[in-house]
Amino acid sequence: MTNQGDILPADAQPTRIPRPEHAISRANISSSALKVLYRLKEAGFQSYLVGGGVRDLLLGREPKDFDVGTDAHPEEVRQLFRGCRLIGRRFRLAHVRVGRDIIEVATFRAGSDLLPGDDADSALSEEGRILRDNVYGTLEEDAWRRDFTVNALYYDINDFSVVDYVGGLEDLKAGTLRMIGDPEQRYREDPVRMLRAVRFAAKLGFRIHPDSEKPLWELGHLLADIPAARLFEEVMKLFLGGCAVSSFELLRHYDLFRYLFPLTDEALSHEEQGFPITFVARALDNTDKRLAEDKPVTPAFLYAALLWEPMRLRMQELVQQGSGELEAAQIAGNEVTVEQVRSTALPKRFSLPMREIWLLQSRLERRRGKAPYRLLEHPRFRAAYDFLLLRSEVGEAPKELADWWTSFQTLNESERAGMVEAPAQKKRRRRPRKRKPVTRSDA
Ligand code: ATP
Ligand code: MG
Repeated sequence: MTNQGDILPADAQPTRIPRPEHAISRANISSSALKVLYRLKEAGFQSYLVGGGVRDLLLGREPKDFDVGTDAHPEEVRQLFRGCRLIGRRFRLAHVRVGRDIIEVATFRAGSDLLPGDDADSALSEEGRILRDNVYGTLEEDAWRRDFTVNALYYDINDFSVVDYVGGLEDLKAGTLRMIGDPEQRYREDPVRMLRAVRFAAKLGFRIHPDSEKPLWELGHLLADIPAARLFEEVMKLFLGGCAVSSFELLRHYDLFRYLFPLTDEALSHEEQGFPITFVARALDNTDKRLAEDKPVTPAFLYAALLWEPMRLRMQELVQQGSGELEAAQIAGNEVTVEQVRSTALPKRFSLPMREIWLLQSRLERRRGKAPYRLLEHPRFRAAYDFLLLRSEVGEAPKELADWWTSFQTLNESERAGMVEAPAQKKRRRRPRKRKPVTRSDA
């Protein structure tokens, strides 16, 4: 099947499903998205709901957001809406603000077409990656340039029908995630599509079609060329989207995890006892559960957990080499962070609290005198305590310590006082004695 960009299949007849034969109802589309859809239509433009919104509505799921596709150019969109901002360098998109919502309005684009005057070399990298793809196109071309067939369905506000050029409806029914066009070529154009495959398979519980699946094992290395900031965004969607456990399992299955977290992947593959992997899985399971209960989750905690195993190993090494515990934690925390951000960025506002969570782990061991009271006041105490709980659940930290902190937080003042031992007697400072240099026979 050839269906790339301007080489559309000769018989590219779309299937149009009329309103009575599909389940998308305007009642399930946000009023903000409807406003935008109608406004475009009334101005004489084509106006469609596209992408994940249509997919999720057809599956009876609640869409995360609504995206709109139109033949209006970004400048024309801007003139129609007061609260409109044009964004994006690689391709321009309109963000239309309606009340508290932002609706993304994208002009139909043709796929990997070249700009007039471009030659293939300047629009594609050596690996076949798209460097520029801002060529406007028709609805049909817009459908073929999308990633998966189930993501290329359109809901027409004109007659409320669903338009399908790529066989997306059939795949949706079968629970198949299928890349449009030649999978290997499409992954090379944009390697992030491999992560998207994993993410949608995990989120929708779909099976990746064998042809779309095969290149995943072979092309992971292409992720090395993707800017770390874009990979960070993708990691957020993979692990803070409510399906972190299955995303992790699939990433490991396709050997893609190591391109996102190389230190962790390495640490996990060295481990025989299996507990670090249990730790990561527990942390991710915990994240999914919190999201399901509408509790807040933070990238700092997530990264702290994902990187804990390499962090711990490096700390051990440093302690063995003679560093104090706190110093080891500081050095290891720094090294692991510096190394990690080469793969996926981690903004400072997350990496600083992540490192605090790590550093507080050894402070949680100090239970004498004023120390525990002071720790309780620390802004990162709660996160550090949750982290300790996770560690104790997999047997990496003493359960007794975790239980102690659980009680300490819930008891009243006088009960607490009973839990805390007096501070250890300060040793009188002695003048440091001059030490004999250590010789082999001493060791
Ligand atoms: P989500 O529920 O996570 O928002 P989504 O399918 O809407 O899922 P988005 O990232 O919001 O995903 O993208 C919207 C649509 O844009 C997709 O459904 C797909 O059609 C298209 N798209 C996004 N990223 C790519 C890409 N890298 N290559 C091709 N098409 C893409
Ligand atoms: Mg979306």
